[in-house]
Amino acid sequence: MRALCLTAAGGPDHLAVMDVAPPVLRAPTDVRIGVRAAALNHLDLWVADGAPGVAVPAFPHVVGTDGAGVVLETGSAVTHVRPGDRVVINPGVSCGGCEPCRTGDEVFCRQFGVLGEHRPGTAVEELVLPGRNVLPMTGEWSWPEAAAFPLSTLTAWRMLTTRARLVAGEQVLIWGIGGGAAVAALQVARHLGARVAVTSSADAKLDRARALGAEFGVNHRGTDDVPGSVKRHFGSGVHVIVDSVGAPTWPRSLKALRPGGRLVTCGATGGPFVELDIRRLFWFQWSLLGSTMGTSREFAEVVVLGNAGLLRPPVDSVYPLAEAARAYRRLAGGEQFGKLVLEVTT
Ligand SMILES: [Zn+2]
Repeated sequence: MRALCLTAAGGPDHLAVMDVAPPVLRAPTDVRIGVRAAALNHLDLWVADGAPGVAVPAFPHVVGTDGAGVVLETGSAVTHVRPGDRVVINPGVSCGGCEPCRTGDEVFCRQFGVLGEHRPGTAVEELVLPGRNVLPMTGEWSWPEAAAFPLSTLTAWRMLTTRARLVAGEQVLIWGIGGGAAVAALQVARHLGARVAVTSSADAKLDRARALGAEFGVNHRGTDDVPGSVKRHFGSGVHVIVDSVGAPTWPRSLKALRPGGRLVTCGATGGPFVELDIRRLFWFQWSLLGSTMGTSREFAEVVVLGNAGLLRPPVDSVYPLAEAARAYRRLAGGEQFGKLVLEVTT
């Protein structure tokens, strides 16, 4: 059985298509999936590079943090899917038995882990995982779209609904449009009826974002006054900012935030340490919100919207497994708009 494996930390040069043993069901709640396509997230770069705080269980490590495929086998306790069903995979795996898991707060499970990081990933012909991590796809999906859907859409959904509580008519600023989570945040914000401004260093990406419903785009390489341009456009600061860049952008984010505004982050691709003037934080009554992945309930909510065709990720490009290193380099260079997908089986 073919799998895309990382043979050591140190970047995509250490990726190789290898032969691995097929997996077997370990629990009556497990399912075995024939993976059709896998997709990459920024997390895949951290894993490949061996970034601090990212430790894979062992090498060779099967990579891939997103995927979709067909159910091949179900354990005796699985009732919501059957062999032959097409499914999308929730890459966040929790224990299922602890108090946070039992009360629907799976993201706070002590054993919470992500496929492709803490556990073997999705870029493999067959995968065994808990049945609660898959939901049926209905309606018209391409395999690349389905594989590209879960992590970014789930992350954006939790950020903007459960965490930032965005409502129709509010104004949102999203930094760095083009990456999967930022594009998903744009789509979710528009679905919720918000008005959206985006930034990018590439005018072509701003045009793509406008086609997806952004009403204002600012090239953050072309101006050093992003907060000023955004405030001039809306006539005020924004209600919600999605800033997963971090160090280079947080000071400007806070300048663009209105009193009572919320800044939500799911990453720190530009650096993790920022300065904060606490006097401004309390005076303006801002909320600074962290978010990561999502719960089973939130996953079910986004899959309903995906199945209805209301949230579908733009796919930047699709690569065969053997050319995966090219996809990693495109992601690392920030060249993409939307998701990078690996074709696992055809
Ligand atoms: Zn748990």
